[in-house]
Amino acid sequence: SKPTILVTGGAGYIGSHAALALKKAGYGVVVLDNLAYGHREIIEDVVKVELVIGDTSDRELLEQLFVTHDIAAVMHFAAYIAVGESVNEPGKYYRNNVSSTLNLLEVMLAAGINKFVFSSTCAVYGMPKEIPMKENHPHNPLSPYAASKDMVERILADFDTAFDLKSVAFRYFNASGAEPNGNLGEDHAPETHLIPLALLTALGKRKQLYIFGTDYDTPDGTAVRDYIHVNDLASAHVLGLEYLLDGGDSEVFNLGNGNGFSVKEVIETARKVTGVEIPALESDRRAGDAPILVGSSEKARKILGWNPQYADLHKIISDAWKWHQQRHGSNS
Ligand code: UDP
Repeated sequence: SKPTILVTGGAGYIGSHAALALKKAGYGVVVLDNLAYGHREIIEDVVKVELVIGDTSDRELLEQLFVTHDIAAVMHFAAYIAVGESVNEPGKYYRNNVSSTLNLLEVMLAAGINKFVFSSTCAVYGMPKEIPMKENHPHNPLSPYAASKDMVERILADFDTAFDLKSVAFRYFNASGAEPNGNLGEDHAPETHLIPLALLTALGKRKQLYIFGTDYDTPDGTAVRDYIHVNDLASAHVLGLEYLLDGGDSEVFNLGNGNGFSVKEVIETARKVTGVEIPALESDRRAGDAPILVGSSEKARKILGWNPQYADLHKIISDAWKWHQQRHGSNS
């Protein structure tokens, strides 16, 4: 049978989809989550794998975990993700996203585990100098959040040199969508992302949506993003893991569709999917937002054989809509 994988942050959005994909692929899965933002019932009722409640800063807990479980590799999703908050509370981000990751790496290496799949972000690039961005695009993280991910990427490279740590770091573009049957999806508190906010507005949970900036140098003046279905992210993680288990060298991969959609196109598609006239107010730009973020994922396709299945925005939003209706109750 296939080995057991430790999934930190597995009760969160992307981590829970990856944990389910691993389980479906036949791997043993142990989720470690401190439940600060993760959801216990998602693991207990939907993913149905072992949940260890605890923090990656807890060295003793990690040491115990590697003794009591025969773990072959670690997938590390646990991190704080709010860009705006990271600007105001940088210490919180460096402590959790960098220090705790360092802790995890040291304990796993001491336990003889040297395979690591890491959640990074296209935010490490900063303002794009070329579109679509490739992995060799220069780095210029614009927030402590982005810097924390960039620092971990650097640590991974240095730990490979020093300790033979083999890692795959995935730079996500805009993670979105949900399990196609609607039983697993995105639930952040507070919610800041465009697609869930549009759907919560359609459900009547919010009065209106704000369009952050209509004066960008883009076709309709609103910002363009590369929305990638969370199940396509999850399948990439399984492939990245298998690449490492097969003896692959450390690599970094973008994960996106290579297609850009504007804020207005997203809202229009959300209206079509929901049949609700989602009220949207034009408003000022949000600080730190790039006009366009679109990535080339040719490298992941080529090296990992990744083949995203849900590139269509309508499908992405339809799946998210099923989840939101199930989670928050339909008003129709
Ligand atoms: N956005 C918006 N209104 C919102 C939330 C987001 O207009 O209520 C815009 C945001 O400025 C960005 C795009 O939608 O251009 C995607 O934002 P999101 O927060 O979903 O993801 P990000 O690109 O920041 O990772």
